[in-house]
Amino acid sequence: MRPCYPVIDGHCDVLYKMYERSEIDFFDLHTAELDASYARLREGGVKLQFFAIFLPERIRSPRFDHYLEYAALFHERIASDPRMLCVKTRADLEAVWSGSRVGALLTLEGADALQDNPVYLRTLRELGVRMIGVTWNYGNWAADGVLEPRQGGFTRRGKKLIQDCNAMGILLDASHLSTRAFWDLAETSDRPFAATHSNAAAICGHPRNLDDEQLRELIRRDGRIGVTFVPWFVQDGGNADIDGILRHVEHICALGGERQLVFGSDFDGIDRWVAGMEHAGCYAQLADALSKRYDDELVRRMLAGNWYEYLYRYLPLT
Ligand SMILES: [Zn+2]
Repeated sequence: MRPCYPVIDGHCDVLYKMYERSEIDFFDLHTAELDASYARLREGGVKLQFFAIFLPERIRSPRFDHYLEYAALFHERIASDPRMLCVKTRADLEAVWSGSRVGALLTLEGADALQDNPVYLRTLRELGVRMIGVTWNYGNWAADGVLEPRQGGFTRRGKKLIQDCNAMGILLDASHLSTRAFWDLAETSDRPFAATHSNAAAICGHPRNLDDEQLRELIRRDGRIGVTFVPWFVQDGGNADIDGILRHVEHICALGGERQLVFGSDFDGIDRWVAGMEHAGCYAQLADALSKRYDDELVRRMLAGNWYEYLYRYLPLT
C-alpha cells in the first residue's frame, strides 16, 4: 500500500467558481463541479488549501466590497464548517497538522481594489487574508502583471503596499507579476516571498513561468516556488502529463531548490488539466511518481513540509 503523504496546496480558484455559480456546494460529496471540493481534498490528502479571492474579468471596476463578498463566501460556505479550520496563525497551522480538519488559508490575487487604502488592507487582514499577489496578468495602480504591454514594475504606491504587507505580516506572491515587478518586489520586500503557481521557463517558455535567475533568487532568499498544474505552463501546447510536472521539479531541484519547491495547483482556475492530475484527489498519483525518483523525506518536503516551514516561520503567532 502506498504511504499517504500530507499535502499543502498554495493556490486554487474554488472561490471564483462558487462566486460565479452560487449553487455549487463545496461539501457535496458527489460534486464534480469543483476540482478542489472537500471530498477531493480529503481524497488527495490535502491538509491545507490556499483559497484565492480572484474577481472575474467581467467586473471592469473591482471594488473593495467585491473582496468582502468573497471573504463572506469563504467563511460562510467553507471555512466556518466544523470539518474545516481557517488558518490565520501559527497556532492554527499546528492545529491543522495535528488534527483531522482541513485547513483553509485566504489569499488575494489582484490588489486592484485596495487602492492604497491602509484601512482596506487592515480589514482584509482581519478577515483572514494572509497572502497577496499584487496583480493578475495586467497592470493596476500598484504594479504591472506579466501580460501588461508596458512591462513596468511597482509604482511608488505599490512599493508602499509591499512595506505595509511586510509590517502587517501579510505574505507576498510573485506569480503573475511582470519580470520587472518581480525584481522590484525582491528589492523592496524584507521578507522572503513566494510564487504560488508558476513553473520553470527553462522547461516551458510560457510568460507566466519564471526564468532561472528568478528561481535562483527565490531559492537564495528562501522563498517558495509553487509548481503548478496548468497544462500550458507545464508543456508547450498544453499536452502535459505527470512526467511533465516532474521535469519542472527536477529543474528546480537542480538549481538547488529542494527546500523551496512546493505545489500550487490552480485547480478550479483551469479548464484543461494535466493527464493524471485532473483534481485534488489525484495528489496520491503525483506522490507515487515523486516517490519513484526522490527519497521519502524529500517527497514529504515538496508536498507539504516546505510550505509548512515557511508558514510556520511567517504566519502571525496568534
Ligand atoms: Zn493565478
